[in-house]
Amino acid sequence: MSWSGWGDPAKARELPEPVLALLRDLLGVRAPGTPAAALEEVALPPVALPEPVLGALAKVVGEPYVRTGHEERVRHTRGKSTPDLLRMRAGDGSAAPDAVVLPGSHEEVAELLRVCSRERVAVVPFGGGTSVVGGLAPDRAGFAGVIALDLGRLDRLISVDEESMVAAFEPGVRAPDAERLLAARGLTLGHFPQSFEYATLGGFAAARSSGQASAGYGRFDDMVVGLTLATPAGTLELGRAPKSAAGPDLRQLVLGSEGAFGVITSLRLRVRRAPAERRYEGWRFASFAAGSAAVRALAQEGPLPTVLRLSDETETMIGLAKPDEIGSGPSNGAGGSGAAGGSADSSGAAGSGCLLVAGYEGVRVGSRHAAASAVLARMGGEPLGPEPGQAWERGRFSAPYLRDSLLAAGATVETLETAGFWASLPRLYDAVRLALLGALGSPLVMCHISHVYETGASLYFTVVTPQDADPVAQWERAKAAVNAAVVEAGGTITHHHGVGRDHLDAYAREIGPVGAGVLRAVKAELDPAGILNPGVLVPRA
Ligand SMILES: Cc1cc2nc3c(=O)[nH]c(=O)nc-3n(C[C@H](O)[C@H](O)[C@H](O)COP(=O)(O)OP(=O)(O)OC[C@H]3O[C@@H](n4cnc5c(N)ncnc54)[C@H](O)[C@@H]3O)c2cc1C
Repeated sequence: MSWSGWGDPAKARELPEPVLALLRDLLGVRAPGTPAAALEEVALPPVALPEPVLGALAKVVGEPYVRTGHEERVRHTRGKSTPDLLRMRAGDGSAAPDAVVLPGSHEEVAELLRVCSRERVAVVPFGGGTSVVGGLAPDRAGFAGVIALDLGRLDRLISVDEESMVAAFEPGVRAPDAERLLAARGLTLGHFPQSFEYATLGGFAAARSSGQASAGYGRFDDMVVGLTLATPAGTLELGRAPKSAAGPDLRQLVLGSEGAFGVITSLRLRVRRAPAERRYEGWRFASFAAGSAAVRALAQEGPLPTVLRLSDETETMIGLAKPDEIGSGPSNGAGGSGAAGGSADSSGAAGSGCLLVAGYEGVRVGSRHAAASAVLARMGGEPLGPEPGQAWERGRFSAPYLRDSLLAAGATVETLETAGFWASLPRLYDAVRLALLGALGSPLVMCHISHVYETGASLYFTVVTPQDADPVAQWERAKAAVNAAVVEAGGTITHHHGVGRDHLDAYAREIGPVGAGVLRAVKAELDPAGILNPGVLVPRA
């Protein structure tokens, strides 16, 4: 993983000249004056933890698993939001942990939490490091130091129960490894977020992640049937049955707890048979409103495809649903790319309208496809054939690589997400767009719907804007405006990225003082010394 960007540096993508011209001419993007810092130039604070404390940590996990080297600390500094990357590119390592500690078992995690509570050391559970909400940069004030608790050594598939269709994993298993281990038995988890290549199962649970195939497989929190949480107060073992009436479901308290209540040391996850058949295709709708109505009809009447993604007009025009093709041809959108099916360009200019991608996997693909297609056609959709769907599938993990090229070219690109009930979605959409336009002048704002429910959906925005002299402050202003607009318009501050630090104030408004008090009480019970990810998730009194 690149320390100041996304993913495998070998997959870095140059921006094609038409895209650079668009950035220059339409948005006024200019190359930044200073080049990105090299890894050895990142300025880190000196290691604050005294030797005896480092020694006590090493006694728990072994000397080789307490690391204070420059590169190791840099690679565990912050997450992968755009402000995180801008700070790292500027050589700002001020949020670095003092040490990276790698436990090898639940017992070692539990013992580390005891030592850190005693020595007042802040602990940041670290999975894949792909947080985009500031979930990995804790408050230092009042602590002897900070450790990143890297869960990478807890990377085993523990057991598979094919009768119940439940697999138990350790938390540090990365998503591709989980799929590989399950595929060997003909199984799948079906969780494919855009951060798939690097994020871990523990991180998905801790941040309530939702993948691109959530319409078919559900969100990650739907998949978790049990988990083990190591806390400074002891171990919580949860999940004896799929559902229970034994009081409130404490699993739900751990899901989304973002390392502030404890460390997830194992998870039991619902698995499915790996799909024998896959079918992806595109549809065109005249407008985002018309497409949204069709998506709602599918969510409410069924059948839902496995993947369902509707781009708005701007996202369709830019071709963001097919990132591998951006800049490679005149039409990237709903009408484009010579779609099979013959009707692609029959009603208007290439790229007009809104692109919907539908994917069907698993059982009864033929009949589900036929029934869903009848709904889409009845709602005014025009079939574009398999090509746009296949292009989406090919490029489904590519877009984050484009962000690095855009940052280098002098554009800020960032994503935002929210969710609401169907009746409030148009207002939410307008509110976020207006907040971004108000804060940034004339940015490019794109949106899609890709997580749908009977009662509502999430809106996922991508914003591109020229960097000013202080791009971090510029983005923070825009983000504050969007957060306020989301709360005002009645949406939730996050559908799947989590709260972290970036959403904390808006989250406090969303849950109100009583809700915030409940979170503080839970934290005080499980983590009396307050060492776990301080400043993340739990609003201050
Ligand atoms: C390019 C990109 C694309 C993304 N796409 C998606 C997407 O499509 N869908 C989506 O839902 N999210 C997406 N994300 C956000 C991110 O990938 C998710 O939040 C993911 O769940 C984080 O997993 P991780 O293993 O990287 O966790 P980390 O980033 O390491 O940690 C996330 C939070 O969970 C805590 N944590 C991690 N592991 C544990 C554990 N074992 N126990 C307790 N706490 C823990 C951390 O302290 C932190 O607060 C994307 C991020 C990026 C950078």
